[in-house]
Amino acid sequence: MAIHRHRGLSEDVYGAIFNKLMSLEISPGARITVDGLVRELDVSQTPIREALGRLEGEGLVVKTHLVGYSASPQITRRRFDEIYELRLLVEPNGAGRAAQRIGDEQMGLLKDTAEQMLKLDSIRDRLSYSRFARLDAEFHDKIMEIAGNEVIHDMLAHLHTHFHIFRLMFHARVTEEALTEHASILAALSSRDELGAERAMCDHIERSHQRLLPAFV
Ligand SMILES: [Zn+2]
Repeated sequence: MAIHRHRGLSEDVYGAIFNKLMSLEISPGARITVDGLVRELDVSQTPIREALGRLEGEGLVVKTHLVGYSASPQITRRRFDEIYELRLLVEPNGAGRAAQRIGDEQMGLLKDTAEQMLKLDSIRDRLSYSRFARLDAEFHDKIMEIAGNEVIHDMLAHLHTHFHIFRLMFHARVTEEALTEHASILAALSSRDELGAERAMCDHIERSHQRLLPAFV
């Protein structure tokens, strides 16, 4: 797939490689050569190196001295469980705080993210799956931002948990059920229901954990 040259070139190159990684078109652990991507995307080395550097920061790519780039291996079962343990510790509490603090403008932005996810769910191809993963990350990130603890917000943002979780499995059920659960979270947030938001977030994270477990069978 050739990429047309325009001002958003870096962003497009990054997006194209991100999609390949998220949809497992580039398999976990596989070598990634800059020259290969130069040919495939029909762009120069510079935006590709930039994109790979950014993806390295997000933990999706690893750079090894003298060897070069490769796709990060899938997370282990242990890491997977630990991510969910951490999320359960902080995100339900964050959703409860967000319910106390959320303003109309923030509610609007959150609803907008949820609506974009709803539209993508009807498409169900590999590209929309990787967009869905990013929007899910955004949805949870916004809630933690509204919750107001910057240290917790930064910590979760740096872990990029959603990218690693979504890369485990390409599955329609993952997206479909998450949308219903997001709707419950939104409903509790919009009625400023602290306990309801906490429960809905807890329920969503526990179910998400269960949904992705088959990736390890
Ligand atoms: Zn979610």
